Formats: sequence, C-alpha cells, structure tokens
Amino acid sequence: MRVFWMSASLCLLLLFVGCPLVGEQVVCTTTLIGDIVSQIAGDGIEVHVLFSPDADPHAFEPRPQDLVMLHRADRIFINGLDLEAGLADILETFGDIVISLSDDLPNLLAGEAEGANHGHATIDPHVWFDPSLVSLWVDVIAETLSELTPSQAPDIRARATDYQLELSALDEWIIIALDQIPPEQRRLVTDHHVFGYFEARYGLEQVGTVFPGLSTLSEPSARDIASLISTITSLSIPAIFVGTTVNASLAEQIAADTGTRVIRLYTGALSEPNGPADTYLSFMRYTVTALVEGLARTP
Ligand SMILES: [Zn+2]
Repeated sequence: MRVFWMSASLCLLLLFVGCPLVGEQVVCTTTLIGDIVSQIAGDGIEVHVLFSPDADPHAFEPRPQDLVMLHRADRIFINGLDLEAGLADILETFGDIVISLSDDLPNLLAGEAEGANHGHATIDPHVWFDPSLVSLWVDVIAETLSELTPSQAPDIRARATDYQLELSALDEWIIIALDQIPPEQRRLVTDHHVFGYFEARYGLEQVGTVFPGLSTLSEPSARDIASLISTITSLSIPAIFVGTTVNASLAEQIAADTGTRVIRLYTGALSEPNGPADTYLSFMRYTVTALVEGLARTP
C-alpha cells in the first residue's frame, strides 16, 4: 500500500513538474503585483500569483505547490519591506531572480516604534496605496520584463507608459473623490496601519488601529483596546475599516461597544476574479468609494 502511494505521488509530482513550460515564467507574491505585471507583460511571459485573494500577505506560509512554482520561476516579483515575512527565508535562496519592487522607493515611511516590533526598525510596506509609487514599480517591472524578453521590449514599454497614464488618472480621481469628506472627518480607524502612504499623499489622518502597528501579526493589549475605544468615542469616528483578509471579530466587538460600524475593504489582496476589486485600478476605486461612504456622513 505504502509503495503504491509513493509511486502514485511520484507520478503526480512528475506530471506537475513535467508540464511543458511555454515562455518565461514570472511569479508574483501578491494579487496586486500579479495584476500590474499582467497588464505590462505580453505573449511569451506566463504570470503566476502565489497568494490567493483570501490570504493575508503578512501571514502567508508556502505550500509544496508554491515551492514548485517558485523553483520554475525566471523572475519573482515581491513587494518587499518585509511584507512577505513568511517567505523571507525561502526567497533568500533564489538570489538575483527576486525583484523587490519597494525596497528602493523614495519617501518610504518609517513604522511607529512599538512593542510588537521588538525594537527593530521597520518600514511601512503598504506602498501600493500611493499610485505614484506604483508608477515607479511599473518602471522596474517594464525593465525586468524587457530584459527577459528583449524582442518584446518596445511593446512592454508602450504598455507600461499607457498603464502609468491610467495611474495618474486614478490619482486625480482619488483627489476629487476625497473632497466629499469634510476636513474634520478625514480620520481613519483601521484593522492595522495599512494606509500610511495613502494618508501621506491625500491628507487623511490615522487615529487608531485594532492591531497595533504595521502588521496583522500583532496582538492588542487590553489597554490598547481601551484607548482605541476612547479615541473612537471622543472623535465620533463613524466607521472602522477592516481588510477582507483580516479577522474582523475584535473590530465588530469594538464597533458594537462604541456604536460605530465595521466596513470591509480590500487592503492587502484583490477580490476574486470578476469581483468588485479584481484589478489594482478597481481595487483603489473600491477602497476610496468605501472610505468616502464611511467618512463623509455627518455624525
Ligand atoms: Zn498590512
């Protein structure tokens, strides 16, 4: 029985690894990166995404099939800045084919010093909430893909430029949409500190989080929760925004205690294909529409 099982699983593995590969293989960690790379890559490049739409990028642990995918990759695009904390050791073994999109960006934001980081300096990894930084990702993606398929370089550059124009249109749309929120109501309470770059670009203020700091991996203390409740009450915060990949039960309880409401958002991952936020551009529009609906109402 054991022999049969081993030979069956070996056959399966050979079938899986032995599939003919068409073109260059590019692996992206997050669904957001996967969409942006797909917009720019052309024929001859196969784009794979490691994280599923319901996976919390901070907490991802690779499965055996993910390792197979990584080993077949010609290039691996990652967010970087420690977002993919669960993959760090494995990614290190892939060397130069790993392209970190965010590590060299300008104007990176430092994390808040707090206990959960054990004194380590941290940089906020949630750069995708600023489309002008995503536009810099696009330059790196276009350069990397052109190197991989030189015959397609002009087309790749052209698609990158078109996409960058869509990013500036998105940026202008966001500025106009946020104008609907009165200045004194531009205060955010979220599950964790996910909107640092968004706040820096568009002038909102983070006043509290359910989980302290930049990751969902931290645990709030009773004192953290009490202080968040008092912030929500004293500032009449109308909504707590919670990502779809994050457990909302504590936020729901705080909302019930303070008479506010929980609004679910896509923050670290796109929606399922054909969902309301299945591309980076629709993800950002969905987010901003939800923020406006949650914050623009008169308390
Ligand atoms: Zn996060």
